[in-house]
Amino acid sequence: MILLAILLLIGLAYLFLNGWVMIRWLKRKVKTKSFLWFFVVTSILYLSILFWNRKSIEFWLDTKRIEKEAQKKPDQPNRYCACNWSSLSLKKDSYPKKHRPLAQKITQNRYIKDSKTLNKYLRNKDLMTFTDQDGYWVEPLTHSSMHLTPLALKRLNELGRLFRKNLEDTKDANSYFVISSVTRTEKQQKQIVRAYPNSATRNKSTHSYGVSFDISKMMYKSSCNYSLKALEKALTEMQSQGKLLICPEKGCIHITIVN
Ligand SMILES: [Zn+2]
Repeated sequence: MILLAILLLIGLAYLFLNGWVMIRWLKRKVKTKSFLWFFVVTSILYLSILFWNRKSIEFWLDTKRIEKEAQKKPDQPNRYCACNWSSLSLKKDSYPKKHRPLAQKITQNRYIKDSKTLNKYLRNKDLMTFTDQDGYWVEPLTHSSMHLTPLALKRLNELGRLFRKNLEDTKDANSYFVISSVTRTEKQQKQIVRAYPNSATRNKSTHSYGVSFDISKMMYKSSCNYSLKALEKALTEMQSQGKLLICPEKGCIHITIVN
């Protein structure tokens, strides 16, 4: 986690600078007023940085907790609370017969060939940049970007809210699912095919239309099973309403928004 290392470094710099100013204040080389101002300003600055990165910090703390709990129960299946075809009971929609043709239809075949096309769609508001909302967290992305069509984003936020609603007033009310991949250009898709030749599609991926995302794991607060059931219920509900399609992918659940 590079981000956490940076936060730690900034924290150390904050402590060091304030320590140094305090020593100078004790030696009466700095006025009390200046020392207090420096302390207040740097504290506000550092707390703001921590606040803006609170979700990443929460994710890191939850990961450590889940890893610790998993070590205590080595025999238990799915002790890291992965979201996949064996941990969730879902109905599969055919990728070549439903996911791809419907992704092409709903986007009027707006295929994201390269970053130039991506930027054009962003300018035309056919794609939107987004940030994490209630119920989900997007991992730092390596082969995709945080863009979705306005409809796909609306449905993702709806899924997050529905999932959280299913957990209302329980110890898992703040659980969230992790999204591991979102929108890919053709080049990014080819890189994935090279990395995972047996699992990624060689044809046009629905990720290259801005209507797909992958759910890889559950960051539960109290119960993995309970949180997974809430996600299963939310996905099944939206699937039965014809809003999204589901299929398994290596180590994750692939979702395509179609309505
Ligand atoms: Zn996928």
